[in-house]
Amino acid sequence: WSNTDTPVDALDELSKTSYPLCMRTLHEALKSNHHLKNSGRVQYGLFLKGIGVKMDEALQMWRTEFTKKIDADKFDKQYAYTIKYIYGKVGSQKNYTPMGCSKIISNIAGAGEYHGCPYRLMDSGTLKKKLTSYGLLATDVSEIVSLAEEHHYQLACAKCFEVTHKIPPEHPVMHPNAYYLDSRSIIDK
Ligand code: SF4
Repeated sequence: WSNTDTPVDALDELSKTSYPLCMRTLHEALKSNHHLKNSGRVQYGLFLKGIGVKMDEALQMWRTEFTKKIDADKFDKQYAYTIKYIYGKVGSQKNYTPMGCSKIISNIAGAGEYHGCPYRLMDSGTLKKKLTSYGLLATDVSEIVSLAEEHHYQLACAKCFEVTHKIPPEHPVMHPNAYYLDSRSIIDK
């Protein structure tokens, strides 16, 4: 995991430069809906812990978003627990680790949910539109969408890394947090 602390006010920018699509999708959904259902909170919350977001800062970020729709008291009673749980401060107090690709790919999101792997879950038209909106070239988008259609989700993700960083990832894409670290090692050079 990341050895450096990551401030939450850097996440909007990091989500654009260094997040894989699964985490960027969750970040965008949180920012636009001011809510994420439980599976999304767990998938994204664990990722954030892995990239070096401290619990108090994470709580502050989730609270700021959720309280655009609900009051702070309700957040503290209903939602803060999951975040503290992720950091091992309540419940079984385990040191939960961020989920890898195989686990995320096997999680299917229902209506109104944004967890899981978008290369598996988005239909081709939606994926194409999404990647195009991120500024990828049409030829690159076609290649990524074809890989996803052939169920090569992690290869599609690696191709997305390659075209957005102008260099392939150092490791095969197996884990969103490794994707993030590979990205930071290129960008921070
Ligand atoms: Fe996330 Fe892995 Fe899917 Fe990439 S392949 S979007 S890192 S789950």
